[in-house]
Amino acid sequence: MNVLVINCGSSSLKYQLINSDTEEVLAKGLCERIGIDGRLVYQKAGLDKETTEAPMPTHKEAIQLVLDALTNPATGAIKSLAEVEAVGHRVVHGGEKFTQSVIINDEVIQAIEECNDLAPLHNPANLIGIRVCMELMPSVKQVAVFDTAFHQTMPAKAYLYGLPIDYYKNYKVRRYGFHGTSHRFVSSHAVEFLGLNPADSKVIVCHLGNGSSISAVVGGKCVDTTMGLTPLEGVVMGTRSGNIDPAIIEYVAKKENLDIPGIMNVLNKKSGLQGMSGVSSDMRDLEAAADGGNEDAKNAIEVLCYGIAKFVGGYAAAMNGVDAIIFTAGIGENDGHVRKKVCSYLGYLGIEIDDAANAKRGEDMVISTPDSKVKVAVLPTNEELAICRDTVALVK
Ligand code: AMP
Repeated sequence: MNVLVINCGSSSLKYQLINSDTEEVLAKGLCERIGIDGRLVYQKAGLDKETTEAPMPTHKEAIQLVLDALTNPATGAIKSLAEVEAVGHRVVHGGEKFTQSVIINDEVIQAIEECNDLAPLHNPANLIGIRVCMELMPSVKQVAVFDTAFHQTMPAKAYLYGLPIDYYKNYKVRRYGFHGTSHRFVSSHAVEFLGLNPADSKVIVCHLGNGSSISAVVGGKCVDTTMGLTPLEGVVMGTRSGNIDPAIIEYVAKKENLDIPGIMNVLNKKSGLQGMSGVSSDMRDLEAAADGGNEDAKNAIEVLCYGIAKFVGGYAAAMNGVDAIIFTAGIGENDGHVRKKVCSYLGYLGIEIDDAANAKRGEDMVISTPDSKVKVAVLPTNEELAICRDTVALVK
């Protein structure tokens, strides 16, 4: 079955067409600058990337251009739209309503809309993608896969904040967690790859990318995660602060004469590795600066690795043990220095890293020594494939 996977942002849209039988990506790309001018990137498997400047006043034109590219007689991956048998949509926030992926109908759309408040930048964009695909491919089943769903198994002690309980009861202020599709994909793959017992395995997944989150997974169920009501909470990220003393908000607002949106902009876009180093949000630039002697860049990396290690230690305590620690996403998959530094804090868990394995790059790999009491591995994430698999499971 051919599944079109759509990840719709406010001014961009990523897509992949996947053959679910072979799990081969037939074509992929993105639309950028929707509503501004418009640029389509399209790549059929085995061919070079094509970039086309094309007007995209709305997501409708953008998705139409994607469908045209996919069925283009010269470079298209399919002959006609009839070959797209299902569409899987990434939806950021499913609130408490969605604990797993669902086939989209009017009721589901309404429920996603009700979560708009919780993810005002993401959910409305995701809904636009859904509506446009339903309009352009009316007979094709559409599935919603939620970033928050995997974390819905967390117990109240992990998801409640120390706030007046009415904020939870009236406004649903609680920890939701994000990157759930990645945490689910990677934790279940870890059980298989490392031969752990599916029923009681204790796995910590460190999804470290531009946005980062860590989760604790027991027997395939998430018991805790670092991101909260929004993706701002947790470890230091590319431009997001992660955890801070909430009183800093008032203190800095007064000093810098900022209102709440101004402060939120700083915490989301000007903090994290970028803000701490003044160099870049990209780990590669930061490491180059640190190697060149930049103290702020060095400190930013130290703060990140120390913070990750503290969460890993906390989750080992929360689960009363840990069988495996998995690194994934841009930094987790590619940066052996970060992995090594994080694990240097975890000797008390009996963790030993095999430096030669850790220096390698590539596919699934164990980077702990055979004697290490906890297995440490690098497993690339693949959210699109997870969305494709969920879609097929629901529409078949
Ligand atoms: P993601 O959000 O998963 O795409 O991850 C993006 C981040 O991964 C970038 O901002 C980089 O900081 C990081 N990254 C990608 N490649 C490397 C690399 N080779 N070494 C270190 N960090 C990397």
